[in-house]
Amino acid sequence: MRMRYGWAQYGKRTKLLGGRWLLAALALSLSFSLSGCGNPHRALDLSNDLMPAPPITMTDPQVEPTAHSSHPMIQLELPELSAPVPTPSLPPIPALSLPPAAPKSNGSTQPTAASKDKKKKPAIPVQRQQQEAARKLTLAQLRAKYADIFKVNGPAQSPISHKKQVALTFDDGPDMTYTPQVLDVLKANHVKATFFLTGVRAEANPSVVKRIAGEGHAIGNHSYNHPLFTKLSLSEYQHQIDRTSTILKSQIGYMPRLIRPPYGEISEDQLIWTKSQQYLIVNWNVDSEDWKSPAADKITAMILNHTRAGSIVLQHSAGGEKQDLSGTVAALRAVIQQLKKDGYEFVTVPQLLNVAGQL
Ligand SMILES: [Zn+2]
Repeated sequence: MRMRYGWAQYGKRTKLLGGRWLLAALALSLSFSLSGCGNPHRALDLSNDLMPAPPITMTDPQVEPTAHSSHPMIQLELPELSAPVPTPSLPPIPALSLPPAAPKSNGSTQPTAASKDKKKKPAIPVQRQQQEAARKLTLAQLRAKYADIFKVNGPAQSPISHKKQVALTFDDGPDMTYTPQVLDVLKANHVKATFFLTGVRAEANPSVVKRIAGEGHAIGNHSYNHPLFTKLSLSEYQHQIDRTSTILKSQIGYMPRLIRPPYGEISEDQLIWTKSQQYLIVNWNVDSEDWKSPAADKITAMILNHTRAGSIVLQHSAGGEKQDLSGTVAALRAVIQQLKKDGYEFVTVPQLLNVAGQL
């Protein structure tokens, strides 16, 4: 089972593409059968999961971080989607969140009364979907409504040190390539940061997880295999969180309290459960955009131009197969040096928010 999620699988790009198209075709045909008149959006949504979102610059701390500019794993995550030969044992995929009330043909050429009734039904779930979409709160509205557990920054001045603080955060690790380099830079500069780890990579690289914890950094939950939470059912979301919590607890001795949703996206029912479990959602208000693999000076500028007291900065400590995060590592030295000159104190997210980082 573990091998199915192994990063080695991700290298099989040809098969991966084949699997992607197969699944897209399946989702498309399912979508048609559901709506009768054809609704390609589901299938398109599915393929969007595998493609980078259009770049969105997050510059204003007051603006809600929009999802997704910031995640290189978008191309390579969801291994179950990428598996060359999907099997029934694979974990749920976003396509499974399609409305369950699917009218199905009974195979008869002469429709029965029951099948006629079923054919009349698609309008109801479609209408319900539209009503639900209209009621759905935006991410900014959700953040306002659940401000006590949904954070994107800390206070402008530490109530304890009275200094201006900044929290550097690194998503998508751990890997054996970039995460150790990031750790080296942080160690050399005596900076503590926060790493949001995926369960699948924590399983694959336990020694790096232990190093992160051993060197005093905070650790958060970044899902098991980086799905878009808003496409998951509540139980699928809970499974992503619980599975990763269990893995991390076995490695570092505690369940992280912080959750960073992949792409920053989360739905209201998921937030309600999150709150009931005493977790905290932590997004960011400064996006380094390092997932685009820009030169170090660009990353440095993105961070320095937008960091203010209380900022939570998004960077990555691991990426996709062909992703070059050397710019992240190189920029980190310059960022730390300049922010130190500017009087910033580097803290972990739990320190910045003055909360416990463990459950
Ligand atoms: Zn991520």
